[in-house]
Amino acid sequence: MVKYAEAEARLFKNIFVCRKCKCKIRAPNMKVLAGKVKCRKCNTSELRIKRKK
Ligand SMILES: [Zn+2]
Repeated sequence: MVKYAEAEARLFKNIFVCRKCKCKIRAPNMKVLAGKVKCRKCNTSELRIKRKK
């Protein structure tokens, strides 16, 4: 359903999770993909897109 997809995009699109300390980081998708966003705790740029399980 379109509405559900929109809600999901809003919730998950710009949220990333640090691979090391697992903290959530909200940042623009393009910036993360370009490697310009770093975790504010451990300073790594190893981020993954947040997914529900
Ligand atoms: Zn981190």
